[in-house]
Amino acid sequence: MSGLQERETPRSFTAISRKRNCYLCGAEFDSFGERKCKLCQTPRCLQPVRRGDPLTLRETQVLRLVVQALANKEIAYELHLSESAVKGHLSRLFAKAGVRGRGGLMLWGLRVAE
Ligand SMILES: [Zn+2]
Repeated sequence: MSGLQERETPRSFTAISRKRNCYLCGAEFDSFGERKCKLCQTPRCLQPVRRGDPLTLRETQVLRLVVQALANKEIAYELHLSESAVKGHLSRLFAKAGVRGRGGLMLWGLRVAE
């Protein structure tokens, strides 16, 4: 009953990390006092995307237009985005779809859309 070591001296606090769960995503991580995991501290645009991740609203809009065989410039025009923003959405779409090229993305989009 007496074997619990639950208290750290205040002096050691900064040096010791402890496992805790991120209050945003719930993942367990080594905390030095932060409440968010490394990933959640990273701006969203810099976070790695993985295959199967859900699409954002913007990505869904871009995907619909890709499926209609629009060029980046046309997609940018339709959605009032810059062309480089469209390219950013596309690269995340490629990652989430697990495809490399636009053709693969179109096929994937046809299956997924609607
Ligand atoms: Zn997190």
